[in-house]
Amino acid sequence: EPQAQQVAGFISAPAQIITATSIKVNVSLPEAAKRAAATGADGVGLLRIEHLILGLGKTPNWYIINKKEDEFINELYSGIKTVMDEFNGKPVWVRTLDAPTDEFRNMKGGEDEPEEHNPMLGWRGIRRDLQSKSQFRLQVEAFKKLWNEGYDNLGIMFPLVGHPDEFVAAKGMMKEFGVDVENKTLGIMVEIPSSAILIDDFISAGINFASFGTNDLIQYTLAIDRNNQNVADMYRPKHPAVLKLIEYAIKRCRKAGVECSICGQAGSDPEMVKWLVETGIASVSANIDAVQKIRETAARTEKKIILDAARK
Ligand code: PEP
Ligand code: MG
Repeated sequence: EPQAQQVAGFISAPAQIITATSIKVNVSLPEAAKRAAATGADGVGLLRIEHLILGLGKTPNWYIINKKEDEFINELYSGIKTVMDEFNGKPVWVRTLDAPTDEFRNMKGGEDEPEEHNPMLGWRGIRRDLQSKSQFRLQVEAFKKLWNEGYDNLGIMFPLVGHPDEFVAAKGMMKEFGVDVENKTLGIMVEIPSSAILIDDFISAGINFASFGTNDLIQYTLAIDRNNQNVADMYRPKHPAVLKLIEYAIKRCRKAGVECSICGQAGSDPEMVKWLVETGIASVSANIDAVQKIRETAARTEKKIILDAARK
């Protein structure tokens, strides 16, 4: 365990524990960037952009209709840049827009959102971007500005991908928008069971990383609405079917040398992280408040793995 050191009358921060597992942090708003970086995390495993966009009060489509695309691109660019500047070259994985239609409905431009009976199974995540090229382009323009300024540590993560064709299509669209896609870090969230089952095909399609979105993976594997109190006690992150999907994907990624990570809430649960490290996960992205505890958990688990092997 690290000890705080007495240095010239000041108590310094505890020395950073070194772990083989990268311990990263989730960020939802640029305002939290400083606090997130102060955890000493090895990077950002999930930067959500929905909150930033919801904060603007207007949908991307509104900016397009009103010919104010540059305004949107600049807002997104500077929000991401604020976070990246705190992480000094450490990897930052930005997730493309993952807003369900009902969350956009109350914004300016929200009247154009389609009415859906079940938005969580509807037009969200990568599906939305693939069908709405102009909205996807606005996001990619913001990423391009950062890459052009030398932020090579920017990685892009696609949400709600269920088939490798969707990854290939998104990558193809980025290429069309002028991105040198073969030299960028592009990955997927594994949050639909189909993407865990087809992980080998995603690896063949060229993903650079995969990250478990367990909040959704649990809901879609168990058919439990994550926001429905009536079935809340059936929402079980450690359900054997969920663990089996995760274990399978970790093992396949490890074999292929593709970074496998987690950014769902389960990555902030020490018990779950102990199991994930034992299973071979490469990195864990936790909530700001959980980073230190998760790093300690990973360190303890790794030490036990090494001791067990040595004793054998
Ligand atoms: C998840 O599904 O686990 C995730 C991280 O994404 P969100 O909670 O934003 O759906
Ligand atoms: Mg999700």
